[in-house]
Formats: sequence, C-alpha cells, structure tokens
Amino acid sequence: MADCCSTPKAAPVDCCCGGESVLIFACSGGSNVGQLTNEAAKKLDQGGVGKFYCLAGIGGDIAGMMVNAEGADRIIALDGCDVACARKTLERANLPISCYVVVTDEGVEKGHHFAISDEEVAGLCARVQELLA
Ligand code: SF4
Repeated sequence: MADCCSTPKAAPVDCCCGGESVLIFACSGGSNVGQLTNEAAKKLDQGGVGKFYCLAGIGGDIAGMMVNAEGADRIIALDGCDVACARKTLERANLPISCYVVVTDEGVEKGHHFAISDEEVAGLCARVQELLA
C-alpha cells in the first residue's frame, strides 16, 4: 500500500497518519499559535485521542487521503488564529468538523515566533479533550 505522502491513490491510504476513525487536523502555521496546533496534534495522537492527519493532503485533494477523511467518525480541527486555515480547508473539502479549537481564542497571543511552552500545549490538549467529552 502506498505511503500517504507519495502518489495519490483512490483507495484508502494506510500509513503513518491514517486508518483511525478520529482524525486530527492542525493548521501547523508559521507562528507560535500555528505551531502550538502542530505540537498539540502530536500529543493528542501519542495519547491515543486520534490520528494526526495531513491537512495539506486535504488541501491538495489527494484521492486516498480524501477517502480516509471522508470515512472518519470524527474530525478534530485546530487553528492557530481566526484566519481559520484548517477549518476552511476542511469546509472546502466538505469534511464535517466535530471538535474545533482556535488557539488565540484560548488566550494565547499570536506572534511570528516559535516560543511555545509545554503548558500551552497541555492546555490546548486539555481543551480538545474537554470538548470531546
Ligand atoms: S489559522 Fe492562523 S496560524 Fe494557522 S495557518 Fe492560518 S493564519 Fe497561520
């Protein structure tokens, strides 16, 4: 079976970031808040909450990845700020979001730096788990 980051396939892609029924998408943007979504998505994946999945694959309309995302039971979307790149990417792909958090709404100020703390990551993970409960 193909790797998720190689040639597009129409069949579901079994890979490092797929195959589970809960998928996590992070904007992973070029700012502290964007990178907070990336770190939180990694922690949530490692904690068994869901599978961190490739938002860029959805934006790129990669066929096998779309099949996986369309088959997800729940989709978690994390945006760094209210520009909402993850949410808009998923909406354009007609993928319903069941849990959504914007980091700046949680009290973290956006800046073009990458100084993020373990506490901020833990707080974002806790917020997601609170919303999922
Ligand atoms: S939502 Fe904000 S932080 Fe995330 S990629 Fe878009 S502009 Fe950057």
